[in-house]
Amino acid sequence: MTDRIITIIPIGEIDSSILDFISWSIEETFRITTARLPNHNLSSEIPPPLYGNRYNSTSILQHLSEKISVNALRLLAITELDLYSPIFSTLYGEAQLNGKCALVSLHRLRQEYYNLPPDQTIFLSRFHKVVIHEIAHTFGLIHCIDKNCIMYPSSNVIDIDEKSPLFCPSCNPKLLSNI
Ligand SMILES: [Zn+2]
Ligand SMILES: [Zn+2]
Repeated sequence: MTDRIITIIPIGEIDSSILDFISWSIEETFRITTARLPNHNLSSEIPPPLYGNRYNSTSILQHLSEKISVNALRLLAITELDLYSPIFSTLYGEAQLNGKCALVSLHRLRQEYYNLPPDQTIFLSRFHKVVIHEIAHTFGLIHCIDKNCIMYPSSNVIDIDEKSPLFCPSCNPKLLSNI
């Protein structure tokens, strides 16, 4: 029996105000209730980091889908860890297409990472876009060629900043029919 809930699992310490923000953001977008698990420490359970302390996001996703049993529709993990995947040397998040799990890293979303003054509004806007994009992959949405659509792939934070926080007229009906 699967509960119609999106469960959020913090990997390591994540500020609770950030988690509150993203719960609200997810509920507003998908109209699905969220729940939260306690912090989970992965360090002993996943392969050690490579490339200057980046963790393999695909391994983390696999670990989550195999080891974390929750009766949720979807599982979103949030981490401060820096990520890479077998395909991308760095990334903001990864999801299982039509699967259960999504993973998002906060590591490269803050202005401070780029030696710029902190800006919470920019940070939360990026966080929203990455999370909604990744969860939408779990509902079967693929990348979109519309540069304004939230499903446009982002290779840097400028791409994230330039796209809209919303689904384009082509992606929106697909999302609605899949959730
Ligand atoms: Zn994507
Ligand atoms: Zn689109």
